[in-house]
Amino acid sequence: MQIANASLFFMESEELNIVDITDKIQDVLNKVHTNSSKKTIIKHSDRLGFACPFCMDSARDNYKKRGNLYLNTLFYKCYNCGKYCSFLTFLKEFNISISLQERTIITELIKDKSFSFRNNNDDIEDVKDFLVITKDEFINKLRLVNVAYNDISKNYMQYRKIPQKWWDSIYYSNWNYYILNTLKYEDNEYIISYTQRTTNEKFRYLQRTYKDVLNIFENEKLLEHEYFEKFNNFSSYFNLYNVNFERPLFVTESAFDAMFLGNAMALNGVQKRVPFECENYHFALDNDEIGLKKMHDLLKEGNKVFMWKKFIDDFNLCNHNIKDINDLFIVLIHKNIDLKELKFKEYFTDNTLRGFYV
Ligand SMILES: [Zn+2]
Repeated sequence: MQIANASLFFMESEELNIVDITDKIQDVLNKVHTNSSKKTIIKHSDRLGFACPFCMDSARDNYKKRGNLYLNTLFYKCYNCGKYCSFLTFLKEFNISISLQERTIITELIKDKSFSFRNNNDDIEDVKDFLVITKDEFINKLRLVNVAYNDISKNYMQYRKIPQKWWDSIYYSNWNYYILNTLKYEDNEYIISYTQRTTNEKFRYLQRTYKDVLNIFENEKLLEHEYFEKFNNFSSYFNLYNVNFERPLFVTESAFDAMFLGNAMALNGVQKRVPFECENYHFALDNDEIGLKKMHDLLKEGNKVFMWKKFIDDFNLCNHNIKDINDLFIVLIHKNIDLKELKFKEYFTDNTLRGFYV
């Protein structure tokens, strides 16, 4: 009996995910829009796209669909007016009634999909199952040496101007740097992933996830955990679990870049997307061909991106070779320019008309 109930619930939630969510949105669109083109929903693999019912979307183009319900988080985001809310709030704002059963299923889905991560004790409950290997155990197992205790690596940290407070997370062994991604919980610091960087001139970055950490310790039982895939994916973003999503949040390509920007995380790969939607992202990807192209794409999607060209121009830095945030700060430090967060934030834009400054 118990098993039958459980599988029925699963089937219902699957159904709701695909069909009923679309129906609910259709109810909203029928209610607010008069033009038939504005009432259609486009199904993308990861989201449902439709004309925003809050701002009514474009007044000139009835085919514009800048409202998005993301299926991986069940959060709504409009790239015209910026409205950002959960699916439950979305329905409530348009007085769409849902049954108690539907509410329970949606709440479960949102809870399951959002899988919290923020650095406070309530949210950390969800991830604590994965906090099993301490930073010290990891360092001992791989025989890592902190960068401060090796002349080559210490010189390199000084040359790259890596802030001292981060040195504690950077290790060295056999011509590789190890940047540890850790999480503190109840007086202990646990390892969740790491980035291995070669020291030769090619600077290869190898991103290791939580799965790789478990492999080193031959710990296989957590692979079966219901949230393993999700946690493993989240583990690949540097500093994700330590940032505050309520504040401006800087997103860089590599961990060394993020270390200069306070509330910052790194994608660890220019082709990777952010793990979920958040309106506070400020993208400062590399000032190279791939990074800039990516930022232009992000700008088109309504995100805030760093105006490299404007910044370099305003601070007279055009005769320096600046490829990323780390390079930028090396130059700023040499020039004794103390950059405050407020000033830095002014160099981000979500206005596509300012795209030529990027
Ligand atoms: Zn809107």
